[in-house]
Amino acid sequence: MLPVHPLISRLTTCLIAAGLALTALAQPLAAEERPAKELFGAKRLPAKMATASYGSYAKGCIAGAVAIPTDGPAWQAMRLSRNRRWGHPQMIALLEEFSQDAQKLGWPGLLLGDISQPRGGPMLSGHASHQVGLDADIWFTPMPDRRLSAQERDELPFTSMLDKSKFLTVDSRRWTSTHARLVMKAASYPQVERVFVNPAIKRKLCDTWQGDRSLLGKVRPIYGHDEHFHIRIKCPEGAAGCKPQAKVAAGDGCDASLDWWFTKEPWAKPKPKKDAKPVKPWYLTLANLPKACSAVLAGPSPASEQEVTYQGNGGTSTALAFSSGGGESAGRTIESVIAADTALPAIVPIPIPRPFQ
Ligand SMILES: [Zn+2]
Repeated sequence: MLPVHPLISRLTTCLIAAGLALTALAQPLAAEERPAKELFGAKRLPAKMATASYGSYAKGCIAGAVAIPTDGPAWQAMRLSRNRRWGHPQMIALLEEFSQDAQKLGWPGLLLGDISQPRGGPMLSGHASHQVGLDADIWFTPMPDRRLSAQERDELPFTSMLDKSKFLTVDSRRWTSTHARLVMKAASYPQVERVFVNPAIKRKLCDTWQGDRSLLGKVRPIYGHDEHFHIRIKCPEGAAGCKPQAKVAAGDGCDASLDWWFTKEPWAKPKPKKDAKPVKPWYLTLANLPKACSAVLAGPSPASEQEVTYQGNGGTSTALAFSSGGGESAGRTIESVIAADTALPAIVPIPIPRPFQ
């Protein structure tokens, strides 16, 4: 037997040790202990089961969700790569109805933000809510009169309705009475329980809204929500597993509860406590969610995204969508989607740039 050079011997030991360490790292956590956002965030398609929202808006999931088509007569879905066009069919139907009603108000059409993941649940980024398919974000940017490419939908920056040079003030150069009517239209649907907007926008509505003031109570002030607003519908009729929210208080909400937002308190940095122990990062696990969510996670997938895309109101999804056909991991690359986009028919004529008159 040849003597082994001591260096090689050491190196081998190192490699074995490194290998062991890697194996230890690769030991997967049991599903129950992993962050639920990783489990739900990895699902590309919904659970093919009877439609049901389980749990609450910020701690739940949804079975049998459907996708809103990427494009409709009066909407375009944004940020397609996030794969959050999924919701309860009642939410998708409402969005389609709302998009048409918006056009009647003179709004060109809706740019749709996040609804939910295919099976709902916590998300790897962004929202705490949007977990049960009953929340949806709508941009304050009107839909352009041409079809946006997949890349534009991922990259188009948000536009704030606030004048950032002032404290909590709506920018009157951007905010219009049509914006106001759009938000109040959203609040007018009986199934809509809450519409979340920035406190400055709520204040603006309180100061200017001439229509039915009783609907103002549904419009709730919240952090952010200055470039989009958020519609929340109530638990569907007979949905036993869906945990409803408390009813909004009576009145228009243009009161002390709104004034509070204009004090320093909501914006003050939390004071670090003396001798406070570092807080362990906390995340939702399957054990924190309703039991049914484990079944939703394990439920079978439909054969294709198309099979579970809502067919209500003339919407279409084409190669623009980040198709999930062919299994959980078969998401297409951004490059291929962008490449495919050039072959798409425009649903509206693309305007030729012309000088201002
Ligand atoms: Zn939202």
